[in-house]
Order: sequence, then structure tokens, then C-alpha cells
Amino acid sequence: MEENKIKFPRSILLPLIKYLKGEKKRLKETKDELKKEDPFVIGNRDDDNSIDSEVAETVEHDRSSAMRSQVTRSIIEIRKTLTRIKLGKYGICASCGKMIDTDRLAVNLTAEFCVACEAAKEKKRG
Ligand SMILES: [Zn+2]
Repeated sequence: MEENKIKFPRSILLPLIKYLKGEKKRLKETKDELKKEDPFVIGNRDDDNSIDSEVAETVEHDRSSAMRSQVTRSIIEIRKTLTRIKLGKYGICASCGKMIDTDRLAVNLTAEFCVACEAAKEKKRG
């Protein structure tokens, strides 16, 4: 099997790592903020037990937890990307091993799959 190693130059990787670490930190802070806003988290509930308030709290909780899981996913993506950079696998499709289009990476820094594999995954997912 042919070694599929395209090394991105350090001049690209270093700022990328710095950026991703900054993003990770920012996302963690966002997650903490969202947790504070969630009325279902102990200590956050107000004493108003009217139906309107309950409904509003449920909506707020759903919104907050949906956003939190999105943030969590982004943090995981960043962590995986940082690992791939360390392993020298950044920019290589995790599925087929081909190089991911740099245009794609430009808009999605944490892209793990090439366009074709991503599309195939989406299809499978329905
Ligand atoms: Zn692929």
C-alpha cells in the first residue's frame, strides 16, 4: 500500500492548531453559558410554577440542550481534527484515504471525509 502522506507545511498547521484550540476554548465557554441558561439545571429554576412558565422553561430547556449538543459535537470535531494533525493525517479522508479538497477544508476546517464519502454517508443516513 502506498503511503498517503501529504504534509501540510507547518506554516499552515501551526496557525490552524492555534485557531482550533482557541475555538475549543470558546466553545467550552459557550457550553457553560448555555448550561447556566437551562432552566432544568438544578438551581436555575424560578419559583413561578404557572403553566406559562413551565412551558417557557421547557422550550428554553429544549433550545439550550439542543444547542449544547451541537456545541459538544463541534468540540469533538475539533478534538479529532487536532489528533489528526498530530498524526499527520490532516486533510486526508478518514474513509477512503484520499486527499480532501482544499476548497472544502477552507470552508470546513474540521472536515474528516472527502466530498464523495460525506455524500455517501448522508445518503446512508437518509
Ligand atoms: Zn473519501
